[in-house]
Amino acid sequence: MFEKGYVDGGYVRVPGEELFSFIVRVLLKLGVPEEHAKIVADNLLMADLRGIESHGVQRLKRYVDGILSGGININPRIEILREGPSYALIDGDEGLGQVVGQRAMSLAIEKAKDSGIGVVAVRNSNHYGIAGYYALMAAREGMIGISMTNSRPLVAPTGGVERFLGTNPIALAAPTKDKPFLLDMATSVVPIGKLEVYRRKNKPIPEGWAIDAGGNLTRDVEAVFNEGALLPLGGLGELFGGHKGYGLSLMVDILSGILSGGTWSRHVKNTNERKSEVDHFFMAINIEAFTPLEEFKERMTKMIDEIKSSKKHPDFERIWIHGEKGFLTQETRLKIGIPIYKKVLKELDEIADKIGVDRIGGV
Ligand code: NDP
Repeated sequence: MFEKGYVDGGYVRVPGEELFSFIVRVLLKLGVPEEHAKIVADNLLMADLRGIESHGVQRLKRYVDGILSGGININPRIEILREGPSYALIDGDEGLGQVVGQRAMSLAIEKAKDSGIGVVAVRNSNHYGIAGYYALMAAREGMIGISMTNSRPLVAPTGGVERFLGTNPIALAAPTKDKPFLLDMATSVVPIGKLEVYRRKNKPIPEGWAIDAGGNLTRDVEAVFNEGALLPLGGLGELFGGHKGYGLSLMVDILSGILSGGTWSRHVKNTNERKSEVDHFFMAINIEAFTPLEEFKERMTKMIDEIKSSKKHPDFERIWIHGEKGFLTQETRLKIGIPIYKKVLKELDEIADKIGVDRIGGV
């Protein structure tokens, strides 16, 4: 058993396999089928392994609340409503977003194998975790993977103060000769999970992330949670491109929600409410249909090498490529464990006690 007492700046290091088995036993206890519980655990663990604290095990409480309140359907009948050789429309039947998302991206990949491209739009799902999880599924099959989802309203449009847009993430993964390229990002300056991290630590947020109810930039995390709003990627106003983040967010709503016959972020609800109406969009592009896969990987690798060896800014030691930090962090965390903030661990202990399963560490 691992040493639970090792604390590092308020963090406790927990081996990945402990986190995985904890998530699985919590979900099993709540009646989630084992195969589904493992998909959710894999998705949350990937986030924590890659250093995405906002979307790892700290999200489990929301899913537990969603299941207990009946907002999440643990035995969904995921249904293909329409289908052609290269596309499908799926109804997620209010299932766990990861389960619906995994099924939908697998279908997109199958279609791309036969027809060069697979596009799957999904309605009536739930929060699906990190968008990159699904994009990487396609990259592992030698394809370009695209994944996006709408989410509940937290972001003000450029020129507005009301929460209208979701933090609507976009991910694109593409294979290279080494680790895949992986762009995986919210279309807001930061996702709400990052504010939750600051809130747990009682720290002010950096200026530029969010506004209060009056539209003023604020560092007060509570002002954002009470009636404030996050800002679209690019920040407040047009000067640094806030209107472009706003547009990207709408792009996600159009492809995920409006195309699928679902909804748009303004109407998306929390996972603990019935019909939270989260919608997703997945695309798999079979590279072999366009160009030999090995040549594609070589050109990707050459492009990345050229970028990384280009002249550095005096304040920066290196140029990173999207996905690279995450893969490095993952390698380290697989060896030495994942730092979990003590308040998150306490929350997980409370979940364990409430539903009657062993805490992390088997206590
Ligand atoms: P980050 O800002 O942490 O990272 C965005 C992207 O930039 C990543 O691909 C990251 O790669 C890359 N990156 C980081 N630093 C550099 C650099 N210096 N040079 C080049 N690339 C870099 O992501 P966000 O905080 O916006 O999003 C975090 C997660 O939250 C995502 O996984 C997203 O899918 C998820 N999310 C989910 C939502 C939902 O409703 N389900 C809503 C909003 C967000 P790397 O991974 O290597 O760091």
